[in-house]
Amino acid sequence: MFEVEDTDLAGRIGRLTVGDKELETPAFLPVVHPFRQEVSAAELKGMGFGAVMTNSYITKRKWGEEAVRRGIHDIIGFDGIVMTDSGGYQALIYGEVKVDPVSIAKYQRDIGSDIAVVLDLPTGYPASRERALFTVRETLKAERKTLKAVTERPPLLVGPIQGGAHEDIMARCARAVAKMPFDVYAIGSPVEIMNGYDFDVLASIIRVAKANLPPDKPVHLFGAAHPLTIPMAVAMGCDLFDSASYVLFAKQDRYMTPTGVRRLSELAYLPCVCPVCARSSPEELAALVPRERTRALALHNLYLLKSEVEGAKQALKEGRLWEHVAQKARSHPKLFTGTMRMAEGTDQLMEGTPVSKQKAIMLFDRLDYIRPELVRYRDAVSKRWMPTSRRLVLLVVSHVDERFFAEVPEMLACASAGGFDLCLFREFFGVVPLELYGTYPVSQSLACEVTDAQVLERSVKDAIAILSKKGFREATVISEEGMLPLSSELAAALRAEVRPIRRGHVAALKEFASSLRVH
Ligand SMILES: [Zn+2]
Repeated sequence: MFEVEDTDLAGRIGRLTVGDKELETPAFLPVVHPFRQEVSAAELKGMGFGAVMTNSYITKRKWGEEAVRRGIHDIIGFDGIVMTDSGGYQALIYGEVKVDPVSIAKYQRDIGSDIAVVLDLPTGYPASRERALFTVRETLKAERKTLKAVTERPPLLVGPIQGGAHEDIMARCARAVAKMPFDVYAIGSPVEIMNGYDFDVLASIIRVAKANLPPDKPVHLFGAAHPLTIPMAVAMGCDLFDSASYVLFAKQDRYMTPTGVRRLSELAYLPCVCPVCARSSPEELAALVPRERTRALALHNLYLLKSEVEGAKQALKEGRLWEHVAQKARSHPKLFTGTMRMAEGTDQLMEGTPVSKQKAIMLFDRLDYIRPELVRYRDAVSKRWMPTSRRLVLLVVSHVDERFFAEVPEMLACASAGGFDLCLFREFFGVVPLELYGTYPVSQSLACEVTDAQVLERSVKDAIAILSKKGFREATVISEEGMLPLSSELAAALRAEVRPIRRGHVAALKEFASSLRVH
């Protein structure tokens, strides 16, 4: 059972129940080798990981029936939730896997796996269309066969989705798998994509898969625990991630940081206060014998990944997941590109974004221009705001503060007396009808004072587009003197006259209202 408790963007805090065990999501499941564990499964439990992933294919080859008698929890030494993979990834790396989907699914059930994965054939990346079509066909065939033959099911059964970077093939696969009665859906093959930093491809894959999956089911992202991508994947609605990256990177002396992965030899300092880093220096770690060094780095990487997941969850709870993802986007230009790609999926992101939030939204630059709250706001003004008159007054001021806010009622009284509609031009929002001034997110936003040329340009364009279709017969731009160049641009597009503000906004509006009465 999966219950969603909180949402922001397309991300959610959820509760996944497996028998008598529970897991709060989003959750990172460290991959543990069935018998070669640099960090033991029991230690992982102690670090707060409630679930791990292990490989049933390797388990079967090593223990066979013994694992059925003892159970997978005893084999790996973990009493939390155990998810088992079926060997699909081995197929990708080593070619053919000598198991069939039905027997490996039954084996996972028989060893007591809490979450079992149907054997899939990962598409890989890059991959030709032919390869993608072939892997999707094979994966779907395995899924149908497994569902038919395994009537007594493991607690949760996972249906993988393949197709790689071929969006249409991925979409078709997701639609087909979505019709099958799986408990969890899993998005396949992102490992090579992430290793190549092709985060825009990753964002596209998640977006396409999510768009075609039932929203009430948990979604797993295979092999996806790169410190850079966790916030984005959480924001796009991935609930579970597994990865062996913590130990694979450790074996190559690679140290995870919140902004990327570094070689230990590059580090002059350890920018972390986990139990490993708090007690050592890069030199001390480098001096350890390889096995101990791998273990130390693996532990650090685990702490780092855990804090990445917790950080994203905390941001989600606060309604600041967008800010969190946007901040992370600055870690790497390719991640920024990926985040822009994520933001293009506005409809998905909008769905989970509350219509109003406790905390103010923060606005910095062009990435924020397309955040869901603003897209939703501009769309509402464009489609639903109805002017009460045929005369528009557009106010252009350099910045809006508490004093301006306090004067809004008086300004609206002028508008009502003069028989015109009063709007404010505002960066990011485009146009703000002043009667909507107190509504979210107009009054609950913090924008930086430095103008971003691209944001200004788009705000002007959107303001003109919205106002042009409201049926105004006459328009006047009332402008602070410092804003006259911008006001002239707006006025030209709206065929409006420009009146400068000389003694405050209210005085200018009163003057304008009385000039109307004279005529
Ligand atoms: Zn550390």
